[in-house]
Amino acid sequence: MMIFKLINLWNFRRELKFVIVSFLIAISLPFIAVIILMNVGINIVSDSLTSFDSKTNKVQIHDPLTGEVVKEISPAVTWPVKGVITLEFGQSDLPYEVFHTGIDIANPFGKQGDPITPFMKGKVTYAGEIFWGFGKHIIIDHGNNVTSIYGHLSKIFVYPGEEVKPGDIIGLEGSTGWSTGPHLHFQINVYGLPINPRVFLGEGNPN
Ligand SMILES: [Zn+2]
Repeated sequence: MMIFKLINLWNFRRELKFVIVSFLIAISLPFIAVIILMNVGINIVSDSLTSFDSKTNKVQIHDPLTGEVVKEISPAVTWPVKGVITLEFGQSDLPYEVFHTGIDIANPFGKQGDPITPFMKGKVTYAGEIFWGFGKHIIIDHGNNVTSIYGHLSKIFVYPGEEVKPGDIIGLEGSTGWSTGPHLHFQINVYGLPINPRVFLGEGNPN
């Protein structure tokens, strides 16, 4: 009788351990899976929308459905601000984002107010403030389904409809919206989806 009880208890504890471990795997797996999928996914999306042809030095824009090259452009581009890169595209930025949709550039001394310039010529489509996310930000349309976003600004000097080009000062770096310190969140979208800005700007640093 006593032996039966002990065996039952031992089995029960083993089952309990199994249940607890299964439960922990079950609750952590989707979270891990989402992080991995999103990190891999954003780079796949980025690579399928744009590519850089090192023979012609042109950026190729792909059709989002067929993947075919619909446009080859060789625009004059520049980093939107000088500074140090604090977060690359596709890296995780928790608790804000599972993956980072742009490149963060900060002043090396933590100061705010550095001048921001468009990375490529275009037309301003948005210049305003929201009290979350990008805070004070500017969106520029460059044609060929390419747009760029400049987030967390402290000041904005342009209006929707204005034509702008590299060298023009469109605003000042700041820390508005979801930001933990002065930096520029610089993002390039193709067909409305974020791509790695380095496809346009290469491997260098914004010095
Ligand atoms: Zn950012």
